[in-house]
Amino acid sequence: MKGRKLLMIPGPIEFEPDVLDALGMATTSHIAPDFIEVFGNSLELMREVWKSPEGQAFIVAGTGTLAMDMAAANLIEQGDRVLVISTGYFGKRFKDILDRYGANTKILEAPLGEVVSLDAIEKELKTEKYKALTITHVDTSTGILLDPEPIAELAQKYNTLSILDGVCSVAGEEINQDEWGLDVVLTGSQKAIGVPPGLALLMASQKAIEVWKKRKTPVLNYYADWNNWLPIMRAYEERKPSYFGTPPVNLIVALETSLKIICKEGIDERIKRHQFLAKAFRAGISSINLKMLPKRDEIAANTLTAVYYPDKIDGNALRAKIADSNVIIAGGLLSEIKTTYFRIGHMGSVSPNDLIAVLGALERSLLKLEYTMEPGKSLQAFQNELLKSF
Ligand code: PMP
Repeated sequence: MKGRKLLMIPGPIEFEPDVLDALGMATTSHIAPDFIEVFGNSLELMREVWKSPEGQAFIVAGTGTLAMDMAAANLIEQGDRVLVISTGYFGKRFKDILDRYGANTKILEAPLGEVVSLDAIEKELKTEKYKALTITHVDTSTGILLDPEPIAELAQKYNTLSILDGVCSVAGEEINQDEWGLDVVLTGSQKAIGVPPGLALLMASQKAIEVWKKRKTPVLNYYADWNNWLPIMRAYEERKPSYFGTPPVNLIVALETSLKIICKEGIDERIKRHQFLAKAFRAGISSINLKMLPKRDEIAANTLTAVYYPDKIDGNALRAKIADSNVIIAGGLLSEIKTTYFRIGHMGSVSPNDLIAVLGALERSLLKLEYTMEPGKSLQAFQNELLKSF
């Protein structure tokens, strides 16, 4: 297909043909034995991907934002203190959601291109008693990666629940939920999990479930209330029929298909593939003197890269030229600097070939806009870096 477009935005991503085929199957009843099996398997496979053998998995129709809403609605009561650790747009969204449930939130915002220091987090936890803290593992607006492990450790030290927004990281960045002591790890289906948009996926620790059980007030969101969903998840795991809200049958069949593909590759292998492809891609970007939002390589995400437009290059013109080459990338998202940068997603079943296509289209577009560079330079840097991983 000469005119095929390559979708390289940070979600939705390009999906595996088997996953798309699953969507087209004849829809069965949500209580048909074969579907009950698929649902139960999906919950079990999630534990493998999240590395949470003890966790309680939830699969609910909705988006990543619903998963955030579900964590806030179930764990937070009026007046509870919550510390929001923000590295961009989605940190602020978590604060908005928490505020809606009456939380007393404090946001620790990282300077642009940086992360919040552990010292700043510990200082805050020492000063005030927080019921929970939230972390955005990868903020999709900035391409910043935060290491959740030491933050989860601090949360345990100060007896605070830790909630990880893993929408742009689960199945693409390293996560070890149980070992690290994370209480909630949530995502949406359309990113590294590799399923078209429409599923909110969440894993809660037993501690989070205990905290929820001890609530003094009812959950203020009917649809998100675990009272409605926990019995359903348990029933599917016990391979029994149940109903609260009709599950999106085809999407869940697609989820099982994708989780099997992920587990067949091996979650550790998959994370490594994301790491070496992202590193090689960044080498390509740097080699043609483009600057990235993250100020240091160690805090650059492996699921997407955020890049500033070079001086004197019109961003809209550059993105339009790249689109003419049938490569779809995303513009900026963080309102303060929205027009100054663009983003490339590289997660899920991404391969070296996809990134070579992106760098090729980027180079041709830059050259057409009279940017000074040697043709092929980023491709060479990409290849050289990639060869080190073989
Ligand atoms: N958090 C992060 C880090 C995200 O990248 C996104 C989606 N881009 C969301 C939350 C919200 O997810 P959704 O768009 O599926 O509601």
